[in-house]
Amino acid sequence: MLRNAAVLVEGARITAVGPYAELRAAHPQADEVAVRGVLFPGFIDCHTHAVFGAPRLDDHERRALGQSYQAIAAAGGGILESVRDVRARSEDALAGLARARLDALRAHGTTTVEIKSGYGLARDAELKQLRVARRLAADGSPAVVPTFLGAHEVPPEFRDRREAYVALVCDEMLPAVARESLARFCDVFCEPGVFSPGEARAVLDAARRHGLGLKLHADELEESGGAELGVSLGAVSVDHLASVSDAGVRALGGSATVAVLLPATMSFLGRLRQAPARRLIDAGAVVALASDFNPGSSPTVGLPGVMSLAVSQLGMRHAEALTAVTVNAAAALGLAADHGQIAPGMIADLVAADVADWREVAYWVGANVVTAVWTAGSACPRLPGPISLGLNVQA
Ligand SMILES: [Zn+2]
Repeated sequence: MLRNAAVLVEGARITAVGPYAELRAAHPQADEVAVRGVLFPGFIDCHTHAVFGAPRLDDHERRALGQSYQAIAAAGGGILESVRDVRARSEDALAGLARARLDALRAHGTTTVEIKSGYGLARDAELKQLRVARRLAADGSPAVVPTFLGAHEVPPEFRDRREAYVALVCDEMLPAVARESLARFCDVFCEPGVFSPGEARAVLDAARRHGLGLKLHADELEESGGAELGVSLGAVSVDHLASVSDAGVRALGGSATVAVLLPATMSFLGRLRQAPARRLIDAGAVVALASDFNPGSSPTVGLPGVMSLAVSQLGMRHAEALTAVTVNAAAALGLAADHGQIAPGMIADLVAADVADWREVAYWVGANVVTAVWTAGSACPRLPGPISLGLNVQA
């Protein structure tokens, strides 16, 4: 924590950090932007499903009335509702919705966002989602890291022949994704009732052969050895972990695989169980936090709110929560060499918050304390008026 400090930015990168008086004297020609409050490294949201159509408000209400996940799915809700929606919507329409939503994430301090496919579950619809992510990446702000998640769920047309769907993911979708360089990572939803560890391994082995980095949704609602599988495959991260086993905690503690925790999801689903952040940190695991931004289980736009949950529900200290959305989140995307810190050589992704004590960023629940955002050295425009997130964003 530096006081009365300055950050020197040249082009897209930070070139010096130090006492204001020293840097000002050494660089008398530099333009100056005064920042009131605290300057943070840009927040990195390392797990989202940000390309989707309509919000799932009926699911939300059914859960409030006590309906189970299975009952909601049987009534036409759940992931498959978003799948029908994404399949039917044009690439342009999805891009318009996602652009507005990324603007909202950025207004809360997110300067890099990972985006997964997984609401297509068919070759062309998966590629459509990833092409939307590529269009958003071309805009450059926030920076976008695309992940292929064709193995998010077994689509209804493969219900009775799931091996054929796994084969489709491995033999058709992954080669097409690799051919167009549409994703940096491949992810699998490894959970009892979704994909087994054996199926997840088959998909991730194929992904590795195509040059993709590996991620895994693991041990979210039930323990199935997903964390251990991710570590054994050298995955860059294993995500969720609310039900991780003791063996999984030990495996993560002895590895460089990042444990990505998503407390907003468990909170939104009304689950009392959260990932054992304290045990993971004490075991030596690298812990990151993310929003899991998605229409079903986490319509959460701000990482400050996730940090707040991490402190109040996961027992993380403020400094651990901040590390978890900056340098550790960068590591979960393979970007730690030049993202997630205010230091010479780093990309100049910066967030200003009008607070007197930096811990306030994780304290004012529901408030957006972010006053300015820079990505790759450029000031981001402030959002005009209220934030639109639903289907009215193109109006
Ligand atoms: Zn997810």
